[in-house]
Amino acid sequence: MGQETKKLSDEYEITGILGRGGFSVVRRGMRRRTSGENENENENNHVAIKTLKRIGPTTPLGKRSNTTTAAASLGFPTRKQVSISDALLTNEILVMRKIVENVSPHPNVVDLYDVCEDQTGVHLVLELCSGGELFDRIVAQARYSEVEAATVVRQIAQGLVAIHQSDIVHRDLKPENCLFLNQSKESPLKIMDFGLSSVEGYTDPVVGLFGSIDYVSPEALSQDRITTKSDMWSLGVILYILLCGYPPFIAQSNRQKQQMIMTGEFSFNEKTWKSITSSAKLLISSLLAVDPHRRPSALELLNHPWVNGDSAKEDPMD
Ligand code: ADP
Ligand code: MG
Repeated sequence: MGQETKKLSDEYEITGILGRGGFSVVRRGMRRRTSGENENENENNHVAIKTLKRIGPTTPLGKRSNTTTAAASLGFPTRKQVSISDALLTNEILVMRKIVENVSPHPNVVDLYDVCEDQTGVHLVLELCSGGELFDRIVAQARYSEVEAATVVRQIAQGLVAIHQSDIVHRDLKPENCLFLNQSKESPLKIMDFGLSSVEGYTDPVVGLFGSIDYVSPEALSQDRITTKSDMWSLGVILYILLCGYPPFIAQSNRQKQQMIMTGEFSFNEKTWKSITSSAKLLISSLLAVDPHRRPSALELLNHPWVNGDSAKEDPMD
C-alpha cells in the first residue's frame, strides 16, 4: 500500500518543548530510524517540529473549510487528507513551499525537511536551531559592538537576498524570529517563522495580525503596498537596537508610536550614540527612510562597506 498514512509519532519522537506562539507550538524531536526507507546516514536526526493547530472544521469566520492536503501541495509524500481551515496555516505552508523550491538549503534561512498532518494540525519538520533567539542574545548582551552588529546584519541580509529573489516578503522580521543554529558565539544566524510572509503575485498578505509594532514599516501601518523594502525597514530597527540596546521608536502610547514610525521620527541623541561611527548612523537612517524607495535592498546592503567589514573601524563622529 503505497499511500499508507504516516503519523508524526511514527516518524519522530518528541523530546521537548522549544517555544510557543499564538497559533503554534514548537517541539524538539528526533527522527526514528526505520529500516527499508532510504535514510540519509549523515542527516542530523534532531529536528524542530512546528505544529500549526487547525482551528476546526470551520474557520473563525464561520465559513466552511476547503479540504487541502498541505503535505501534497508541498511536494512531500501524501500522508493524510485534512481540512485546512485557517488562512494563516495555509499561508505559512505556501510560503514554505516556495522556500523549499527556491531557497533551501541556505545558511541563513531555516530549512524545512518534512510535513506531517493529523487531527491536531500540520506539523512542519524544521531544521533544529539550538542556539536560541537573537532576541535572547540581545537581552543578555545589552549592546553589540559595530563589528558584532555587522556580522548579524550581514547574515540577515544574506537570508533576505535569497528570500527576496523568490519574491517572498517576510513581513515579521524581528529578533524573536532569527535563530542561532548552535550555542557558539560564531553560530550562523537563520531567519525563520514565515507565518505572516507573502509571496508577490502568489499569496494574499495576511493583514491586521501583527503583534509588536516596533519593527513594522510605515507602509505596513498605513496599509500601503508592502514590498521587500518593508523587511529592510525592520532590519534597520534591528540594527538600531543592536547598537544601543533600545528601540528607535519609544512612546507613551501605541498611537503615538505609530505616528513616530509614519514620520520616521527617531534620533541618535542619547549618549550611547556618541561613540558610534557616522557610517553606522547613515546606514540606519537609510534603512529607516519613510520612503521605501530610498532604502537599500538586501543586496545593496551586503555591498555596503560597513556591512561587509571594510569601514567598521572608521573614526567616531565625536
Ligand atoms: P509563531 O509563528 O507562533 O511565532 P515561531 O515559528 O516563531 O512560531 O516559533 C516560536 C518559537 O519556537 C521561536 O521563537 C523559537 O524560540 C522556537 N522555534 C521555532 N522554530 C525553531 C527551530 N527550527 N529550532 C529551534 N527553535 C525553534
Ligand atoms: Mg515567531
